[in-house]
Amino acid sequence: MDLAEYKGVYVIAEQFEGKLRNVSFELLGQGRKLADGIGDEVGAVLIGYNVKPLAQELIAHGAHKVYVYDDEKLANYNTTAYSKVLCDFFHEVKPNVFLVGATNIGRDLGPRVANSLKTGLTADCTGLSVDEDGKTIVWTRPALGGNIMAEIICPDNRPQMGTVRPNVFKKPEADPSATGEVIEMEAKLSDADFMTKFVELIKMGGEGVKIEEADVIVAGGRGMNGAEPFVGGGILKELADVLGGAVGASRAAVDAGWIDALHQVGQTGKTVGPKLYIACAISGAIQHLAGMTGSDCIIAINKDEDAPIFKVCDYGIVGDAFEVVPKLTAAIKAAKG
Ligand code: FAD
Repeated sequence: MDLAEYKGVYVIAEQFEGKLRNVSFELLGQGRKLADGIGDEVGAVLIGYNVKPLAQELIAHGAHKVYVYDDEKLANYNTTAYSKVLCDFFHEVKPNVFLVGATNIGRDLGPRVANSLKTGLTADCTGLSVDEDGKTIVWTRPALGGNIMAEIICPDNRPQMGTVRPNVFKKPEADPSATGEVIEMEAKLSDADFMTKFVELIKMGGEGVKIEEADVIVAGGRGMNGAEPFVGGGILKELADVLGGAVGASRAAVDAGWIDALHQVGQTGKTVGPKLYIACAISGAIQHLAGMTGSDCIIAINKDEDAPIFKVCDYGIVGDAFEVVPKLTAAIKAAKG
């Protein structure tokens, strides 16, 4: 393989029901930094149906080029068909780097494409940089239960690939006046490329705000002692509602069956980056911190003044969450008038 033939850092832009996922923008911001580091350009690959109008948004967030596969057959995500499209794109355009969001779709698609192209993929990265050689990407991810950070490279194969967790990198500011190239591509698909058939979309987790996209998260841990605080009328849900936010949870609360795993924050849950994270009766285990220390402001409420969560918070309240949380909610309601 002549590595010099492969150029460009490409973000696999993910959209759902005609709306781009935030992680696509976060990756474009970081992709641009990587591209600058290796003297290359950053682009996006957009796949779906009626998605072409989204290309300008990607350009506004840093893409120099957007390759669009807009085809009715691609209206719903399909592992084998989307993989085929990306493999064809690789053979035609010869990109150097593929950045994929570590979302449900990205975690399904990325490894399949990497396997088909016989290249390496680093999953669930939390850091990206350029090696001293000025051309190899260094993919950083937690390993051994979060106790070490592993740096992984793919020096001999192309594309260099990785999935990156949402909310690890900040979304860049949009520049509506930015210009770029939109290239329409043809998806060469036959029935044999669809090994599964889309039957129905069943949305999980209700209509509320998703924790990955929330500006405010009120999270509860084992100390909440049951499911009640997490659901409608419960003290965590009430505080989240008054702040227009979402309810999150530690793994202990999820494992106890008090709340669905979709709300879990941490190493095996979601990585979140809200403006405000309120951790209630959560001790602050390293695996929980791995998912929330990117929050702009952290408030911890815990009755144990030595709880590790107090080491990472901006404001700490030593007290019983069952007393503090309702008081906070009442004070916010009163302040709102
Ligand atoms: P605890 O550690 O039991 O803490 C409960 C806290 O509540 C204590 O600090 C206590 O002082 C306080 N408290 C009790 N009652 C009250 C009250 N009335 N008012 C105020 N404070 C009170 N964990 C995650 O969260 N997310 C993950 O993704 C995750 N992934 C993991 C992956 C691996 C491989 C492993 C090994 C573990 C993982 N864990 C994860 C588990 C993690 O190690 C901890 O066990 C878990 O985070 C503890 O949850 P907790 O803080 O709710 O419970």
